[in-house]
Amino acid sequence: MNDWQRFAAKVSRIPGGCWVWTGTVNSDGYGTFHVDGRRVLAHRWVWEQAYGPIPDGFELDHVWSRGCRRRDCVRLSHLQLVTHRENCVRGVIRRKLQKVLPVVQSWTEEAA
Ligand SMILES: [Zn+2]
Repeated sequence: MNDWQRFAAKVSRIPGGCWVWTGTVNSDGYGTFHVDGRRVLAHRWVWEQAYGPIPDGFELDHVWSRGCRRRDCVRLSHLQLVTHRENCVRGVIRRKLQKVLPVVQSWTEEAA
C-alpha cells in the first residue's frame, strides 16, 4: 500500500461532515500517521501533500465556522492555514461561544 492508501484506510466520514481519523490519536487529540519512518500529524500531512510545507509561524485551524468540531478531523476543506495568533484568537472565541450556545439555543427554541 502506498502512503495515500494507508491514509485513506484510516479515515471515516461521519454525519456533520468531518472526516475522522480512526488511527492513533496523540494526547492533544490529533491523529498521527507514520510516513518514511517519522510520526507526523495526520491533518498536517494531508494538507502538506496538497499545498506544500506549512511555513514557520503558521498553524492549521480546524475551522469551526465550516462545521468542524474535531481535532482528529483530516478533511482538507475543514482546515485553514492561519498564524499562531489567529489560531489562538479563534480558540478563545470558540470556547466562549461553546459556553453560551446552549443558552442561545434555548432562547431560540422559546421564541419559536
Ligand atoms: Zn472537520
